[in-house]
Amino acid sequence: MTEIISKWEELVSNLTVWKRGGQVAPHKPLLTLLLLARAQAGASNQMRYAEVEEPLRKLLRDFGPVRKAYHPEFPFWHLQSDGFWHVHEREELLVDGKRRLGSNSPTVMALRDSDASGEVPEFLWRQLGREPGLIVRLARRIVEQFWPESLHESLLQSIGLDLATEQIVRKKRDPRFRERVIRAYERRCAVCGFDARIGDALLGIEAAHIKWHQYAGPDTVANGLALCSLHHSAFDRGAFTLSDDLHIQVSQDLTGHDMVRRMITDLHGNPLTPPQSADLLPETGFVNWHRKNVFRAPGRS
Ligand SMILES: [Zn+2]
Repeated sequence: MTEIISKWEELVSNLTVWKRGGQVAPHKPLLTLLLLARAQAGASNQMRYAEVEEPLRKLLRDFGPVRKAYHPEFPFWHLQSDGFWHVHEREELLVDGKRRLGSNSPTVMALRDSDASGEVPEFLWRQLGREPGLIVRLARRIVEQFWPESLHESLLQSIGLDLATEQIVRKKRDPRFRERVIRAYERRCAVCGFDARIGDALLGIEAAHIKWHQYAGPDTVANGLALCSLHHSAFDRGAFTLSDDLHIQVSQDLTGHDMVRRMITDLHGNPLTPPQSADLLPETGFVNWHRKNVFRAPGRS
């Protein structure tokens, strides 16, 4: 039993994820989380492409880097190389060379037309059913590895995974990062100026990474922003970003009424409140990364 548990943990920690430069494709992690959610819900180990295509596309759009197109068919096929997913052999899937993408993966049309389906091997699936704590551990590992903390809750909710039984353990990062960033920005939100304290303690002021820690963004002030909790989650969700000259750019995707306008939308075009000295300013490379990978383009005009 222990052997099988460690087998799952090993498989999940060895998930091979496409990487280039600072970019990582979260396709396989998202599909794996969807499979874990099915296991948690007691569903079958078999899954049709038709069932997963739309949910996965939506997750890629909401929690992956912004792209012109989203490809749920990639992980459905390529997750097979990771040892816990197998797509059922169908002639229609592989025979029609024209429909293949690259040498060995079928197109989205081929997956749809052949009503492709796949499965997690029965013995691995049963193990997940028997050991609910294992699902939680695996999901936690994936979520921590690919997304910043401010997104965990909404991501898990969108996937339908319940980790409530076991809190996500906050990874200990360089504690000086928070301190240095918040000090650099004079203990207030660089976007709205929020600087509440209760007694001597700051209330709701956080240090955000511009380039995510999960994508090798460093713990340096030049990669940090002091933000209030609201602007921290809005920034990590791509509701706004910064231009190279550090003006706030709000996404056209962000909607909402009076409070949202006042708190975020109306700030479009405003300059960021800079840190106390110029050598602490955000580095353009990190800002660029955020704009390309996190921001929900296009911005407002
Ligand atoms: Zn703020």
